[in-house]
Amino acid sequence: MMPMITITRAYRTEFDPTSVQRDALLRHCGTARWAYNWGLARKLEDRRAGRPMRSAISLHKELNKLKDTTFPWLREVSKCAPQEALRNLDRAFANTRGGKRGRKVWGLPRFKSRKRCIGSFRISAGTRVEPRRIRLPRIGWIRLKERDYLPTDSHLLSVTISERCGRWFVSVAVRGNVTVEGEPTRVVGVDLGIRKLVTTSDNTVFNNPRALDKARARLRHAQRQLARKRRGSRNRAKAAQRVARLYMRVANVRRDALHKITTTLTRTKSVIVIEDLHPSDMLRNHRLARSLADAAFGELRRQLEYKAVWHGSRIVVAPSFYPSSKRCPCAGCDTVVRQIALSTRTFTCPACGCSRDRDLNAALNLRNLAVSSTDKTIACGESVSPPIEAAGVAEAGTARAPFGRVGGERPFKPLAQPRGAAATG
Ligand SMILES: [Zn+2]
Repeated sequence: MMPMITITRAYRTEFDPTSVQRDALLRHCGTARWAYNWGLARKLEDRRAGRPMRSAISLHKELNKLKDTTFPWLREVSKCAPQEALRNLDRAFANTRGGKRGRKVWGLPRFKSRKRCIGSFRISAGTRVEPRRIRLPRIGWIRLKERDYLPTDSHLLSVTISERCGRWFVSVAVRGNVTVEGEPTRVVGVDLGIRKLVTTSDNTVFNNPRALDKARARLRHAQRQLARKRRGSRNRAKAAQRVARLYMRVANVRRDALHKITTTLTRTKSVIVIEDLHPSDMLRNHRLARSLADAAFGELRRQLEYKAVWHGSRIVVAPSFYPSSKRCPCAGCDTVVRQIALSTRTFTCPACGCSRDRDLNAALNLRNLAVSSTDKTIACGESVSPPIEAAGVAEAGTARAPFGRVGGERPFKPLAQPRGAAATG
């Protein structure tokens, strides 16, 4: 009996537009940005006058009336572009501090600038997907760089188009049913680290691709080149593009590794025990900050949590300050040592004399949190098999997806949803 659940998820892939299509995409992005700024100006006007701010719906009606007189060029783009931009604006106000959802964003929404980025736009109707292409209203069929990645049979909630470093991406949000295939027995403890990004209690090691670390020399060079270019010059813009492309690659390498880890774990394990880390607190330690940011523990946990829902596994978070690295995991021993230096890579128990890799030791302790005392199978002094290096994750540049094309290992940008909805973080 496998239960079915309904989830919302997004698939993101790259476009291959013709130059005519690229112009149309740029025009849509421009219109969305313009509508956002136009709406923002009106809302701020209301606010200054002390009356309630106009909503996205009334602003859109107002805009429609001006279509034939003041802004005839709005007819050239899909009506969704300005409409969805105004909706985003409503959401931006709701997310300010004290807003409806009470998220901590300081200050009011700001005007979008063309200088900052080309931006994005969203289409909510009139789209269709085929294995190799997608149709957008007013633009037509656009080729996709990947075949068979976007789902062709699902109901599309929305399609978001965005640009980064001269490349165009489409993100498709769909709602569908998935079968939850959880087995109740496979419990795993997961220790997070910097060099070894993930060590599990069954001694699988996922290395950290250390994307930022590897790109640092090239980034330093590119940043220096940028700093030497005259402000406002064409060469400066080109140098800025080079820096942006390097950062994009860093982000891609990191995301790829994280998705592979979280997919593997949630697919093969039913209970995953993790530490309760507070990434933003940890970043205050300046000696570790860069490596920690490069490891992206927060994103790892976010992915584990939403993928756990898809695959029917459960995430257990160890209490803060649980001494996972200082405890002996052997059955019936449970000795806690006072302190273990970060440089000490092996845990040796003073009571029973067992000794194993520090990260594995921590993972075993985390696993023990979720199993009954009789299932703590490690006998005192038991040796463990050497670590298994997870395939494909060790070397970032050559990594290949081990699971084919379906599944959750792809970059995925969920749309904002009501709180508590499944599958987004
Ligand atoms: Zn012991």
